Amino acid sequence: MAEDEDRIAQFVRKGLRAHGFAPTVVSDGLSAVQHALGGEYDLMVLDIGLPEIDGFEVLSRLRGAGSSMPVIILTARDSITDRVTGLEGGADDYMAKPFGFEELLARIRLRLRDPGRAEREVLEHGGVGLDLGARRITVDGRAVDLSAREFALAEVFLRNPGRVLSREQLLSRVWGYDFDPGSNVVDVYVRYLRRKIGTERIETVRGMGYRLV
Ligand code: CA
Repeated sequence: MAEDEDRIAQFVRKGLRAHGFAPTVVSDGLSAVQHALGGEYDLMVLDIGLPEIDGFEVLSRLRGAGSSMPVIILTARDSITDRVTGLEGGADDYMAKPFGFEELLARIRLRLRDPGRAEREVLEHGGVGLDLGARRITVDGRAVDLSAREFALAEVFLRNPGRVLSREQLLSRVWGYDFDPGSNVVDVYVRYLRRKIGTERIETVRGMGYRLV
């Protein structure tokens, strides 16, 4: 990962380690190019605003050197021009900051998956099935439409069935590092999710958080 903002780098590093990855973090563009061309890496998460040379230049040097390593661009500049420049420059995916860890993880997994292999990861609990590859959810066998945020929230619940998850945990996993801890966005989205998968499936644990039952 190439990221010069320590807080974000630590946030991603911690999350990736917890999911069994072995990330290396560099904080400038030249090191990013050197590592990518010299090391054994499967994928790069690349910030655009970097010291020395920026992310677009990193990408162009990688592709110029014949590297086809998957690259996911991260940037605060949430503009159409950046997106187009990034994708035309050979990026595989793009995420605007602030981002939630689960969404980054989903995109990383998607890029690492060998398209030739029909691998599917499905999480199931209490009649709810989440197909992580196809990004589909079924409730008692019936397909349900979820927004990206709702899907990410459902994924956190299904990875932790029966466990109480605090608002802070949900906030950090789904919305990321930049969200105001006083925000009620978690409660709002739990309400949306309950409406779609069944109110009784997500229990409120007073003073503690929520639990998938
Ligand atoms: Ca930066």
